[in-house]
Amino acid sequence: MSLPLWFDPEEILIGGAWHKTQVCLPVECPSDGREMAQIARGGKPEIDAAVEAAQAALAGEWGQLSAAERGRLLLKMSGLVLAHAEDLAVIEALDVGKPLTQARADVAALARYLEFYGGAADKVMGETIPYLNGYTAYTLREPHGVTAHIVPWNYPMQIIGRSVAAALAMGNAAVVKPAEEASLTALAFGRIAQEAGMPAGALNIVPGLGEEAGAALSAHPGIQHISFTGSVAVGQHIQAAAAANAVPVTLELGGKSPQLVFTDADLDRALPFLVNAGIQNAGQTCSASSRILVQRSRYDEVLEKMAARYRGLTAGPALGDHDLGPLISGRQKEIVEGYLALASDLTIAAQGRIAEDVPAGGHYVAPTLIGGGHGAHRLAQEEIFGPAQIVIPFEDEEEAVAIANGTEYGLVASVWSENGGRTMRLARRLRAGQVFLNNYGAGGGVELPFGGIGKSGHGREKGFEALYGFSTLKTVAAWHG
Ligand code: NDP
Repeated sequence: MSLPLWFDPEEILIGGAWHKTQVCLPVECPSDGREMAQIARGGKPEIDAAVEAAQAALAGEWGQLSAAERGRLLLKMSGLVLAHAEDLAVIEALDVGKPLTQARADVAALARYLEFYGGAADKVMGETIPYLNGYTAYTLREPHGVTAHIVPWNYPMQIIGRSVAAALAMGNAAVVKPAEEASLTALAFGRIAQEAGMPAGALNIVPGLGEEAGAALSAHPGIQHISFTGSVAVGQHIQAAAAANAVPVTLELGGKSPQLVFTDADLDRALPFLVNAGIQNAGQTCSASSRILVQRSRYDEVLEKMAARYRGLTAGPALGDHDLGPLISGRQKEIVEGYLALASDLTIAAQGRIAEDVPAGGHYVAPTLIGGGHGAHRLAQEEIFGPAQIVIPFEDEEEAVAIANGTEYGLVASVWSENGGRTMRLARRLRAGQVFLNNYGAGGGVELPFGGIGKSGHGREKGFEALYGFSTLKTVAAWHG
């Protein structure tokens, strides 16, 4: 199936107009390796122009809109996302390699982000502060100004939704640099913003290479906030660039998220979560649960039940809507296969299969369940970003917490136990930005603040927290006698 594009993917959005660049980048379909399209390769000149356009938007029409008007615009965009839903889902599925059902869920999430932040735009308030006699003191929440959004390839629509919608709701202007491997729905998002009547320059989309467009954007002195999702190495680079301009940065850098299964867990409820959290989007999810910690008395049972599920999993082309698709690229496949080779001193408990008829050029990896693990193993320490999970036994709560907290990361954790006291206790002891009790992910709620500690990053996205992050607080103290 060809891409259902209703726009020219070689054009980039700057200052409300679509432009071409001199050079383009090929767009590979991860399901079969063929070139599907080309996208523009923006660089420093385009980033400079986009930042200038964003500044002009803040000084012009966009900066004059009321919070309610900004909210209405986002709500209109939400409706338009749903009107384009099937095309967006097919584009995302083909571009990222994710199963169509997952891509449809990502479209729904994008629409929901726009709806949530559209509704919230005029509900973020300052406070009045009881102060000295003769004064009235209060706070104002104001936009930072021009915000940079550097987006990865694993969930382009969801990540644009969560960062750009919140930034625009607060009245910032945005310059988006999508990932070179998956820029198409970011470009579609730009078209939808225009269709909704977004003032020129409020939203600018400049695809290109990380080391060109991404580096130019993060180092630009005209940027007042950077939001980045991706690898730790690039995140550190971005933070250094932000430090050079002394601007705030939100980093979301992935994790090694554990699920803790205790003897008294409701295993029938837990099992689908245990497995799906590892193989969703072929494991290329920042909040993937790649470590399953099981109390020893039920370790064999959990491993075998998970193994049975793994044996029924199939990886295949995105539009075939299998359990999982291919990985994003040959490079990512190599990284993941390199990790799987490290399992030689452990047990491969089970593998799913790759569908027989997959095209030779696709980047497929069979989902792999690894048993006999221990907390110090590299597979239990490093982010694999592929469809693999390691199962690790533990004796008691103390050991479970030590293993769970024993990595550099801290994004998500979950506890499976029917003992309410234990779940509440562990919710406090686990080092993670989100803890789920007897579930994993809670349906991905837009309302739930999300972000990491340690090498998983800092700053919070989603919920109202994102609106606070995308604004700065001004204190006003008036003396009136
Ligand atoms: P990156 O961190 O390289 O990519 C994320 C984004 O940063 C992309 O838009 C990328 O651009 C951009 N970028 C790259 N280099 C720079 C730079 N010097 N300055 C500014 N922006 C830059 O991730 P990869 O695609 O290389 O994936 C590698 C690993 O990162 C994965 O195996 C996984 O472990 C982790 N990762 C984590 C994600 C998460 O959700 N937390 C998402 C993606 C990856 P471009 O792609 O165009 O080069």
